[in-house]
Amino acid sequence: MRVVAVPVLQDNYSYLIVDEDERVAAVVDCAEVEPVLQAARAEGVTVTTVLSTHHHYDHVGGNEELAGKIPVRVYGNADDSARIPKLTDGVREGDAVRFGRLQAEVLFIPAHTSGHIAYHFPREKAVFTGDTMFAAGCGRLFEGDPAQMMKSLAKIDALPEDTRVYCGHEYTVKNLEFAHMLEPSNAAIADKLAWAKARRAQGQTTVPSTIGSERATNPFLRTGSPELRDSVRRRIPSVGEDDVLIFGGTRKLKDDF
Ligand code: ZN
Ligand code: FE
Repeated sequence: MRVVAVPVLQDNYSYLIVDEDERVAAVVDCAEVEPVLQAARAEGVTVTTVLSTHHHYDHVGGNEELAGKIPVRVYGNADDSARIPKLTDGVREGDAVRFGRLQAEVLFIPAHTSGHIAYHFPREKAVFTGDTMFAAGCGRLFEGDPAQMMKSLAKIDALPEDTRVYCGHEYTVKNLEFAHMLEPSNAAIADKLAWAKARRAQGQTTVPSTIGSERATNPFLRTGSPELRDSVRRRIPSVGEDDVLIFGGTRKLKDDF
């Protein structure tokens, strides 16, 4: 498996997942058609499959146009069939998705939207997390609450630590600046922030991350950190010692950051 990150719109990523044996590819979150097809041409592969993580326009905005151009199967949450254009294959937690010789498992990870899913490739150790987990961040809670987001992130956090994490947006520098504010003495955060700034200055991506890196740097996986808890409590005293309130407080602080 080869993964090509395709920058689209302002700061979104579509991903081309290439099966190098059969020369076919799936596109994760087809927001724009032309950049994706251009990447496929450069790789010399045929796009057969779309894997939609959630219904937001910046993730499915190209489904209709792509399906009008080439024959594709479009996967997405079965319960979001009214919101994901051109859906052909509705899936749910635990379902298998196959294209070429590759196989993914569906993880149901609601909260950013009520129907958000991830695609996990256990053999290749890769997970496509859409707008639920970003490098050093998580999505806004548009259709869920802090407890639900904690549960969704815990599902991703349970994957092996060398699993690569491919997220839906390039938000890494801003996310790490927020993380650094909450945990100024966390060296992993400071180091990754310097690295991410250098990458962006050279016009390079900061994806993929890994589960291990997220455990070390992502505030939304680190609400057990005493330094983070103190930082959040200083700004929002009412969170006390409650894990869900501290998580919700962290999310609130990020909304305003
Ligand atoms: Zn979204
Ligand atoms: Fe998005």
